Amino acid sequence: MAPSSSPPHGIEVARTRDEVRAFRLKLSREGQTLGLVPTMGALHEGHLSLIRLAAREADVVAASLFVNPTQFAAHEDFGSYPRRESEDIDMLAAAGCRLVYCPRLTEIYPSGDSTRVRVGALSEDLEGAIRPHFFEGVASVVTRLFAHLGPDLAVFGEKDYQQLLVIRTLTRDLGFPIRIIGGPTRREPDGLAMSSRNAYLGAAERKQAGALPAALEQACKRLADGEPINAVCEKAGSRLLAAGFSSVDYIEARHAETLSPLGTGSAPYGVPGRILAAARLGTTRLIDNLPFQRS
Ligand code: AMP
Repeated sequence: MAPSSSPPHGIEVARTRDEVRAFRLKLSREGQTLGLVPTMGALHEGHLSLIRLAAREADVVAASLFVNPTQFAAHEDFGSYPRRESEDIDMLAAAGCRLVYCPRLTEIYPSGDSTRVRVGALSEDLEGAIRPHFFEGVASVVTRLFAHLGPDLAVFGEKDYQQLLVIRTLTRDLGFPIRIIGGPTRREPDGLAMSSRNAYLGAAERKQAGALPAALEQACKRLADGEPINAVCEKAGSRLLAAGFSSVDYIEARHAETLSPLGTGSAPYGVPGRILAAARLGTTRLIDNLPFQRS
């Protein structure tokens, strides 16, 4: 087994499953718990907040940097997705991460690999309806990362809210003894959710992008006031188009735990809700979500 490299700042860089397994085994022998934060790199403060959250819950934190090809469709941005491995490793080390797993493609998908993980109905709705390949790719890579690293807990961002629920579901269904923790969405001063893809926005688009969180925030207030769900979501969509968004893939108010629809009338009292949206600004697709409740 090739030894993983240990740069001077103390973070270990592992590129093979054998290396991460050896790291995990050593921790287990020492009685230490491991928290995992999977990422596709091009890190920002949102990712780092998840590292810090994991560090509060586990003795040792590992992150993964892997741009996962199976969650991109052929027409999507796999080739142009930002890759900045050495800056990412420095940022992870500074945030207190002890291991970074940067697997080669064949560590995750060995030659001849044919196994995929599909989470049922939840994967076909909302994001899954627009990007049918997406959650199967996410579930397939996360399952492999869980199998390679065997973490005690894993942290995922609420920014990708449906993804968080898909991962909770697969963890339960496959019986992984892993606690899944959701981390709050970190935002820019104008409310835009931090995202590696925000780098695609031109200067004018970047100014328009703040309309997405603003529209969702206003919609949440209206839903909490009992305005009909259909009307609220339609108004939010019109507001985005008026602000310069080119199209809206969906804006939907759903049950926060199951993502089941809440009907078209007023939101039910006392039920935790989540409004979720995806919209396009030029060629960049942005997603966001916020909680609401009528009480
Ligand atoms: P990604 O690198 O985009 O695949 O994201 C890796 C993890 O970071 C996922 O669990 C995301 O939900 C999470 N994440 C992305 N953006 C944010 C954000 N603005 N705040 C908190 N977590 C985030």
